[in-house]
Amino acid sequence: MLLPKFHYHEPSTLEEALQLLSELGGNAKVLAGGTDLLVRMKQKIDMPSHVISIARIPGLSSITPRNGHGVSIGSAVTAAALAKDELMRDRFAPLALAAGRLGAPMIRNRATIGGNLVNGRPAADLSPPCMVLGATLKLKSLSGEREVSVNDFFRGPGDVFIEPNELLVSINLQTPPPWSGGSYTKLGARKTLEISMVNVATLITLQSPDGPIIEARIALGAVAPTPVRAFAAEEFLIGRDPSEELFRQAGEIGVGMCSPITDHRGTMEYRCMMIEVLTRRSLVEALGQARSWKS
Ligand SMILES: Cc1cc2nc3c(=O)[nH]c(=O)nc-3n(C[C@H](O)[C@H](O)[C@H](O)COP(=O)(O)OP(=O)(O)OC[C@H]3O[C@@H](n4cnc5c(N)ncnc54)[C@H](O)[C@@H]3O)c2cc1C
Repeated sequence: MLLPKFHYHEPSTLEEALQLLSELGGNAKVLAGGTDLLVRMKQKIDMPSHVISIARIPGLSSITPRNGHGVSIGSAVTAAALAKDELMRDRFAPLALAAGRLGAPMIRNRATIGGNLVNGRPAADLSPPCMVLGATLKLKSLSGEREVSVNDFFRGPGDVFIEPNELLVSINLQTPPPWSGGSYTKLGARKTLEISMVNVATLITLQSPDGPIIEARIALGAVAPTPVRAFAAEEFLIGRDPSEELFRQAGEIGVGMCSPITDHRGTMEYRCMMIEVLTRRSLVEALGQARSWKS
């Protein structure tokens, strides 16, 4: 399948890219890794007359610690870079783990976090971990910049809160407090190159290594038109002593927050069962990480 004809732009500064987006607006698409966009263009789902590559814009491909309180991830950071970064693995494990499960090595070397979020697929691997890590997204246009919580970013399948003249510049995360641990787990029909049938990201914070849970976040993907936070399950965990039985019950509550569909990847009933199982497993792993917190 051939790509349709289009004008290609390769700005070397952010200002130049924003200028192009402002002039071309709805006729242009941003190109990051191209693993979604080029496929959609070949299938004639997207037919932009202008494509603006962000590959040469400085700073968009870096992971930058912010005074020990968090990290700023450039929108063009690849899944491969996130998966192997030491800071990400130590302090932001759900995102590093999810990045390591996205597609296969060749895809991970090109696929970016920005493309994954802007694409807005309900089954995308990086959305649930960004939700449990409380990510804020920095969007820029020629007229200014704004920050959006990732929880407010997803509006429906393929529909996100970004204007045609805006560029997602960075994804910003606060470092979780001491005795926090997180995990990511995904179910697909195959081990690699598989879009999730269900995916779950979790983050819990303990009062002390043997103490109760004081903060809990659970986000589920591929179970509703957008990724969702399982708020009722989170509230259920707070103030209680962690145990496998508690986590099983939280998984059961999580099922109630979802409206999965039956499709070629799995039935609604199977997805519901798997939400419960994966939530429990993910919380068990998160607990292990929280208890072995290194300052
Ligand atoms: C074989 C294969 C396997 C895959 N497996 C998985 C998988 O397991 N899990 C998964 O989640 N996804 C998977 N994907 C989908 C895809 O790889 C990811 O969604 C990837 O993260 C998209 O990033 P990208 O940089 O390639 O985005 P692109 O294709 O470059 O862009 C995607 C969309 O985002 C927009 N965009 C990109 N960056 C910005 C920005 N900074 N500001 C504004 N708009 C922007 C583009 O205009 C486009 O609309 C797979 C794709 C393929 C082809």
